[in-house]
Amino acid sequence: MTISTIKPALSVSAAELEDLDRRHLIHPHQRSQRTFRRVIVRGEGCTVWDAQGREFLDAIGGGIWVTQVGHGRRELAEAAARQTAELAHFTGFFEYANDKSILVAQRLAALAPGDINRVFLTCGGSEGVDTAIKIARLFHHHRGEPDRNWIIARHYGYHGATYGSGTATGIPDMQHAVGPNLPHVEKVMPPYPYRAEFYGGQDPTDFLIDELTRTIERIGAGNIAAMIGEPILGGGGVVVPPEDYWPRVRELLSAHGILLIADEVITAFGRTGAWFDSDKRGMAADIIVTAKGLTSGYAPLGAVLMRDEIGAIVADGEASFFHGHTYSGHPVACAVALANLDVLDNEGLLNRALAIGDWFRAGLAPAADLPAVGEIRVEGATAGIELVANRQTREPIAPDLALAVADELYETHGVITRNYGPTLVLSPPLVLDDRQARQTTSAIVEVLTRLDVEAGRIAPR
Ligand code: PLP
Repeated sequence: MTISTIKPALSVSAAELEDLDRRHLIHPHQRSQRTFRRVIVRGEGCTVWDAQGREFLDAIGGGIWVTQVGHGRRELAEAAARQTAELAHFTGFFEYANDKSILVAQRLAALAPGDINRVFLTCGGSEGVDTAIKIARLFHHHRGEPDRNWIIARHYGYHGATYGSGTATGIPDMQHAVGPNLPHVEKVMPPYPYRAEFYGGQDPTDFLIDELTRTIERIGAGNIAAMIGEPILGGGGVVVPPEDYWPRVRELLSAHGILLIADEVITAFGRTGAWFDSDKRGMAADIIVTAKGLTSGYAPLGAVLMRDEIGAIVADGEASFFHGHTYSGHPVACAVALANLDVLDNEGLLNRALAIGDWFRAGLAPAADLPAVGEIRVEGATAGIELVANRQTREPIAPDLALAVADELYETHGVITRNYGPTLVLSPPLVLDDRQARQTTSAIVEVLTRLDVEAGRIAPR
């Protein structure tokens, strides 16, 4: 069921919208050289339309890995409308709560692995990561180890844009010229098997466990609160760790009393075919941060899930949890989340994510031997196609050339993807069908066939 099949009547023309945008709206990750605008005004399933009425296939989930159940779902719109009419907002501070936030917490506790039964609601991923960092530090503080405040994060990791989550992010642009950033954050390398040069010929997991052991020794286990990591790197290029990586990291952290925070903002709620990807990778996380797919982007909501013991120590007994946001547990967002989880469940979209992975693997196979393709990584309904200037040396392609590939897909094929540095990323709604998967992959193969890395351009058709 979809909301509407007719083009919305815009009160302002497409050209005027673009002009107003340039004058007033600052975009995240704005690049001033790119003065054109892409104004998206409607969506249905995996299709979106821009202000001029042009149709696109959304292969990146609302542009930013969110739209799990697809665009234009009447169930979610109606849940939001009903809740807005019933109770648009009342705070969750102090003893107050609203029914939908309680039901979301219950639902997440039932889905989460092990003894993860306590939930703190946020408005998104960055807030969730900041919350998780505070909770980890508080946990140790209340247990009598106030010096445990270091956070270990990883290069290439993306955790958000607030000061806490932004400092934990392993992409230097996030910290450039806005410092001082959060103190007591240390970065280690992530597993990135394609980039064997990172590990000096050693097995990546052996190298990384050795590095982590030395980092813990240097900082002192008694000074470290937690390590944070995405189960698979998302914005870092859809990089999947070797099977033994997370179990061995978990074991090492446990031996030193260090908590493990799984940042599942991208991976939770079906993206890789599971409710929680960390679970299937053996992370046995103490805290799980989620957002995006929780509402499929229909309303801003995130959830920080934690083990019973952690919840009890930071929020029960003598403790008082002095943290929260006006919109923590927003009833409309929570009503949307409940409807969204129903759709994911009732329509078997976790399994569909695995089928999408199979379609992507088959459809992208013809690109594997192209000169500019370094590695194709598919994990459920997300994929990273890492582009290189030289297959032998694995020298990365210039990011602007990877951006040119995404632009060509948009302009020539009407397929929306996104490049993260040298890697072209897919993360479509989980309602993508096999025809749409083929449309996406054949467009990519076609454009990559014309990509001439030596000339630094895409040849005309
Ligand atoms: N963590 C991960 C893994 C993410 O990919 C993102 C956003 O893309 C965030 C955290 C930050 O979430 P938000 O943009 O909702 O603040």
